[in-house]
Amino acid sequence: MSSSIPNIAIIGAGPGGLTLAAILQRNSIPFTVYDLDASPHGRNQGGTLDLHPQGGQLALRAAGLWDEFVKYARPESDVMKVVTPAGKVLWDGNGPNARVVEAGKEYDHRPEIDREKLKKILLEAVEGSRIKWGKKLLEVKEAGEGSYDLVFGDGETERGFDLVVGADGAWSKVRKVLSDEMPFYSGISGVEFWADNADEKHPFVSEFVGAGSMFSFDEGRAIQAQRLGSGTIRTYGNVRVPENFFKECGIDWEKKDQARNEFVERYFGDCADVLKRLLMESGDDLVLRTLYMLPVGFKWEEKRGVTLLGDAAHLMTPFAGVGVNAAMWDGLDLASGIVESVKGGKPLDVVVKEYETEMFSRGEKFAQKTMRGLKGHFSAHGNGHFVERLKGGE
Ligand SMILES: Cc1cc2nc3c(=O)[nH]c(=O)nc-3n(C[C@H](O)[C@H](O)[C@H](O)COP(=O)(O)OP(=O)(O)OC[C@H]3O[C@@H](n4cnc5c(N)ncnc54)[C@H](O)[C@@H]3O)c2cc1C
Repeated sequence: MSSSIPNIAIIGAGPGGLTLAAILQRNSIPFTVYDLDASPHGRNQGGTLDLHPQGGQLALRAAGLWDEFVKYARPESDVMKVVTPAGKVLWDGNGPNARVVEAGKEYDHRPEIDREKLKKILLEAVEGSRIKWGKKLLEVKEAGEGSYDLVFGDGETERGFDLVVGADGAWSKVRKVLSDEMPFYSGISGVEFWADNADEKHPFVSEFVGAGSMFSFDEGRAIQAQRLGSGTIRTYGNVRVPENFFKECGIDWEKKDQARNEFVERYFGDCADVLKRLLMESGDDLVLRTLYMLPVGFKWEEKRGVTLLGDAAHLMTPFAGVGVNAAMWDGLDLASGIVESVKGGKPLDVVVKEYETEMFSRGEKFAQKTMRGLKGHFSAHGNGHFVERLKGGE
């Protein structure tokens, strides 16, 4: 390999790592992605994501994936409904109140895309041989000035990387080279309830949630439902509880129907019947989520040849819906720096430092917004404040 082309490892094939990979590939810069999943279809990819013009959308344009995005994006699901715990509808962007969007401006706000589809279009943009699946990184080892070896769970070691990018999410192993900081419990745990093929199998759920998302906030608890392009509606019952809640609450989560009854009755039993019905009728699956975060404004001292992006750098709760946009924006910025270095001769260390400076500031702003979201969503005045923001065009 030419000395001007760095040997790049990207750990993690999530939205952030794949954005970086897709843009590098478009610029003919080699790299290898390592992911612990056994294959691209190793696990359910989760719900729906809204991609902002300045974050995810910009990154997809830079990766040459705009047309693919438009194929799967759902601007029609960029619709909110807000209901108080007592069942009063404070805001409904469905039906006659639907926002009128001028032709050509469908993507100017926050169109939704299923996480699975986003992953598909990013994966299709990256040459298959550049991604190694079933590679769980255990440790990044320094192997001389600015050179690193990667130790994997399968016993193999890959050697001699000039740049290791930790895009390995919340529990990043790459982060350990840069900092001792670990994610801490956000105070919120949630149960995800699924209603598959909602239009046909669960017409009440479908009708009640509408075309996009439904929210109901209250002191210490929040219900959030979202429609996926697949036809499933996922509803989250989130509660402010201690970290070991799922183990210690006395609910047997293996018995899913019984667990759903107990959880809903215990934490949402005094809510309006429509909200309880939404949770109770969404019985096709149940997933437990304990939400962690990194400190707002988390930073590290620069270290030649190692950096982080996405959740590995600024893990936050989902209460502002910005995590994936932040991750893809990071991927875009870092890729632009690497391209500038390889093609324009700017030293790699310099572009990585420039990337980190921008990313720290951007990540902090996103994390602050998320903290405001967390406080608002779990407070008695959360619905009113949220509706004010919607009226203001947010
Ligand atoms: C319930 C929930 C709902 C959310 N909703 C939204 C939303 O609506 N909008 C939004 O913007 N964000 C949302 N987020 C946040 C969003 O999911 C993340 O911010 C985003 O996925 C971060 O992307 P990433 O590429 O940095 O990391 P990840 O998506 O976590 O990807 C990390 C990748 O690294 C791999 N990996 C991990 N460890 C290793 C290892 N040791 N070795 C090799 N590979 C490894 C993993 O397999 C994975 O593929 C939500 C999060 C949660 C939990």
